[in-house]
Amino acid sequence: MRTFFSTLFRSARDAGRNPASIRRPIGLPRALFHFLHPGLWEAFFSSLGIPVVLSTPTARATLERADLISETEHCLPVKLLDAHLEELASRVDRVLVPRILSQRRGFISCPKLAALPDAVRAQFRGHFEVVTADLDENRLPLARTLAGLGKQLGFDAAESEHAAAAALQALAAAEASAPPSDAGPKRFLLIGHPYNLADAYLSEPVLLKMASLGVPIDRLDFGSPKSAPEPLRWDTSAHMLEILRALDPARCAGVIQLTSFNCGCDSMAGPYYRETLKAAGIPFMALTLDSHSALAGLDTRLEAFVDSIEGRS
Ligand code: SF4
Repeated sequence: MRTFFSTLFRSARDAGRNPASIRRPIGLPRALFHFLHPGLWEAFFSSLGIPVVLSTPTARATLERADLISETEHCLPVKLLDAHLEELASRVDRVLVPRILSQRRGFISCPKLAALPDAVRAQFRGHFEVVTADLDENRLPLARTLAGLGKQLGFDAAESEHAAAAALQALAAAEASAPPSDAGPKRFLLIGHPYNLADAYLSEPVLLKMASLGVPIDRLDFGSPKSAPEPLRWDTSAHMLEILRALDPARCAGVIQLTSFNCGCDSMAGPYYRETLKAAGIPFMALTLDSHSALAGLDTRLEAFVDSIEGRS
């Protein structure tokens, strides 16, 4: 009986708020925030019964479109977001573009992420609706932000909170990783912002080249800084610095940073990475990504880096 009435009430409530409309598909670009919160958005919308339409993974053609349609001064990850959104424009009538202000309490995110919904609305006016929410851990925990977004989309409090919990569970599962092994030869570490490391088109060439050289390499795990924001307050930059400070020179053969041309955060944080590693006696090299060259010259630089380290040891 209870189930019958619940169903009846639910149907009536859904009818009043046009379930077909609130559950229409939403586009999710495989760029930037997709990689900052792996698994989160798919689980959130799936729990609400909203089909998620993902853009196709980054390829050479995505880079070429990014270079054609995006603002010249943007860093590569922001340019790529534009190309992924352009592809979604013909497939959905709404897309998710959150405003990311802080991913961890006490820290702030790159200022470019704070302007994304406005920039996207300006660039794609008339192409799709931009669904957004402010992700600001300094003001509101992510669970409440997600629950608020659910209500904003037309769902009731219970549905929204349930979706938020499912999303956080998926995020925790995606972020869980096995600790690196202490056995075997010294290993290299590839660092960078999550959207550079998790986008296979950008990071796989480095990993494959190192594998072809017979050199073991790990990719920096997802995660947030755990300690106080000294001296970096940008969350992803502080996470990298924290990891570098904890590296054991007896276990780490060298560090490679995947950075983006025009990245303001990396231009400020880079010297801290370099100084930290220099003090620990760990070799360091930065590879810069941009839409023209991507990773041109990559093979030669990686070979020279590895050779120089092997020559020293
Ligand atoms: S941190 Fe750098 S690469 Fe990331 S969005 Fe900001 S400017 Fe772009």
